[in-house]
Amino acid sequence: MTVTQTVYEWATTPLEPEFRLRRQPKYSRTGCQIIPCLLPPFPAITAVQIRNWGYKMANVTATNLGFPRVGAFRELKKAVESYWKGDSKLEDLQKAAKTIRAENWKFQAENGIQHIPSNDFSLYDHVLDTIALVGAVPPRYKFEGSTVDADTYFAMARGGRAGKLANVPAMEMTKWLDTNYHYIVPELHKGQKFALSSTKIFDEFNEAKALGVHTRPVLLGPVSFLLLGKERDGGDALKLLPALIPVYKEILAKLAEAGADWIQLDEPALVLDLNNDQRAAFKVAYSQLAQGSAPKILVATYFTDLGANLETALHLPVQALHLDIVRGEKQLDAALNDAPANLILSLGVVEGRNIWKTDLEKALAKLEKAVAKRGADKIFVAPSCSLLHSPVDLDSETKLDAELKNWLAFARQKVKEINVLSKALNNGRDSVKAELADNAKAMESRRTSKRIHNDAVKKRVAEITPVLAERKSPYQTRAAIQGKELNLPLFPTTTIGSFPQTEDVRQARAANKAGHMNDADYKKFLEGKTAESIKWQEEIDVDVLVHGEFERNDMVEYFGEQLSGFAFSQFGWVQSYGSRCVKPPIIFGDVSRPKPMTVEWAKFSQSQTKRPMKGMLTGPITILQWSFVRDDQPRETTTKQIALAIRDEVVDLEKAGIKVIQIDEAALREGLPLHRAEWNDYLRWAVEAFRITASGVQDKTQIHTHMCYSEFNDIIQAVGAMDADVISIETSRSQMELLDAFVGYKYPNEIGPGVYDIHSPIVPTQEQMTALLQKALKVLDAKQIWVNPDCGLKTRGWKETKPALEAMVAAAKQLRAQVAGANGKKAANG
Ligand code: GLN
Ligand code: ZN
Repeated sequence: MTVTQTVYEWATTPLEPEFRLRRQPKYSRTGCQIIPCLLPPFPAITAVQIRNWGYKMANVTATNLGFPRVGAFRELKKAVESYWKGDSKLEDLQKAAKTIRAENWKFQAENGIQHIPSNDFSLYDHVLDTIALVGAVPPRYKFEGSTVDADTYFAMARGGRAGKLANVPAMEMTKWLDTNYHYIVPELHKGQKFALSSTKIFDEFNEAKALGVHTRPVLLGPVSFLLLGKERDGGDALKLLPALIPVYKEILAKLAEAGADWIQLDEPALVLDLNNDQRAAFKVAYSQLAQGSAPKILVATYFTDLGANLETALHLPVQALHLDIVRGEKQLDAALNDAPANLILSLGVVEGRNIWKTDLEKALAKLEKAVAKRGADKIFVAPSCSLLHSPVDLDSETKLDAELKNWLAFARQKVKEINVLSKALNNGRDSVKAELADNAKAMESRRTSKRIHNDAVKKRVAEITPVLAERKSPYQTRAAIQGKELNLPLFPTTTIGSFPQTEDVRQARAANKAGHMNDADYKKFLEGKTAESIKWQEEIDVDVLVHGEFERNDMVEYFGEQLSGFAFSQFGWVQSYGSRCVKPPIIFGDVSRPKPMTVEWAKFSQSQTKRPMKGMLTGPITILQWSFVRDDQPRETTTKQIALAIRDEVVDLEKAGIKVIQIDEAALREGLPLHRAEWNDYLRWAVEAFRITASGVQDKTQIHTHMCYSEFNDIIQAVGAMDADVISIETSRSQMELLDAFVGYKYPNEIGPGVYDIHSPIVPTQEQMTALLQKALKVLDAKQIWVNPDCGLKTRGWKETKPALEAMVAAAKQLRAQVAGANGKKAANG
């Protein structure tokens, strides 16, 4: 007998009348049919009661895309580095890794996550894991076996150490889309062969299974793997797709055999600007992968909206699509409207790469809209992206005050948020009443706290006028005045700021921080180091000196610690690459500068020499980019606040007698949005922020900037628009490839294309550096060229720094003589 009964669906969530009417009978099973409610609901009936009556309700699924792998106290870093040093064995490393994985799985299982990721863990990098998995090991590692072993794996990551791998260089590393995480770039070539060469993904699935946790393995999807890789011989990486797909099919089949019912294939390339061929590759790849019935496929995208690729993604023949609804919020409506009825949408409503609590009411509103439209069984609740980019656990923080802490959520707290949201949807808001109320209180406190909102700062930003971003005179006029003021030779030499942070410097800082060395002794120690470095720069005859930055821990932290509106965590580490983690400052409030930050050191340093001493500051974009930033106001506003604070510092340095001031913008390029269409807007405010920072000074004060990457050919106009008197940039690794940009674009001001690579311990010869300068002379005017290394020398030792800089000065002198000779000849002939 079939009983049809009416129950009130979603009786605990207030429904739009329109929704009640639109909804079709949906959940039909023998003995029970839930049909739409056309009458006012009976609030007394809860979803839990309905379930207790034996009716099956459709539910949303609580999911996660990835969990931090470093461990709450960077256990992985310690284990990996100890293994590298030879202090522990591979088994020890594997044991430590296993403990972290178990802890992560257990935590997520206990906190209601139904789709728990596995294979999100990595000993170094998940792209490198994929390289190993599909056997795309570059030939120089002489990989011949059937599975990639630890030596080969780490040789690809950081260069070979011994035996047949000794001195084999590492693979290239680059930024993972617009994050601060770096991945190993797949190195591909025409005719590349692929073969299953690692068991990691299966091992980790089984490892979790043995612990009673059923997981959803995560893997970088085949199209993104190729698009984020590099074809060495200039071919089209997508041509390799037919060779790669069979390996992915094999992986899927093996996972199905092991019992996996879902797999998450990350396709972050779907958020990039793609051409038709690239879009077509997704269709081809997934129509082939989807042929087998198991496991079901979730394609995951993140970091922004899919733009023109949304339609392609929505119609891939897969079971689920993940969308970032935090950074890509604007795609939500289109996705809800256009997705085929049977496609599950995984909605990333909990920000995976910042540290703020989610506004649960706002997130619920989005999810309820989605559930209303598509049915709960078609919705996964998820973080916006893998939580890899979040610190692990806010509960470890003992020094953050209660008010601030109450505004934050790290990875573990975000998992709990996903759980609360899912419960609210499935069991009604009452089931998580306390959590929702606490969250609302935290949101309200953040909206109104006096610690965040500083009226004077807001007023100053509101009153910014175009004049504030203009130097007094154009570059040509300034250059003439500065020429007289500074009296520098042709091809002036300088360095980028920092000198080797040797063990004694680090030890002294640690001792001072721990209270073992008092402030006066520490200051004396730093003065000694600084004075010594200045004396040495005079001896080797550098023209514009630096003080060495011995007093600075980090170029952003040093300023963040002295500015209002910043906070610092104790354990808020996030993986940057391999075992390296960063602990970004948290910008929580309006930024202001209570007092000068660098003036005392600048004065001391200038007092040690008659030559010009560069004042050294970090620019607003770089401070923004390398911090966790506010999500309650546009990035542009936060940047302008920082710009005004640094501007005041620039003016104070000038007043203190500093004639050359460098404002580092190391991160200008990495702030570029993922969609090209948004570049102009970003560059507009980024350039304006720099100009505000730099424009408070007289014409005679020379403003430098520094950027440490060379691929900025496509933003060269914006770099010109920053109107710094001098810019120093990285170029040596690419043999001055950057200079190609200056063939079509006449860079108006002065420029120091780095003549040696500070990332390598190799000491460059005078000849090598002269050769690079000769190249520069072909596209730049001699009067424009400065001579400097690529970047700061902080990570180098003195052993290589000294001969390198001596040779660099010699190269500049050689060039001066050459140009003087040529001019002499010209004069004689003319
Ligand atoms: N002035 C800084 C230094 O020399 C610049 C560092 C950087 O560009 N990353 O260390
Ligand atoms: Zn640099």
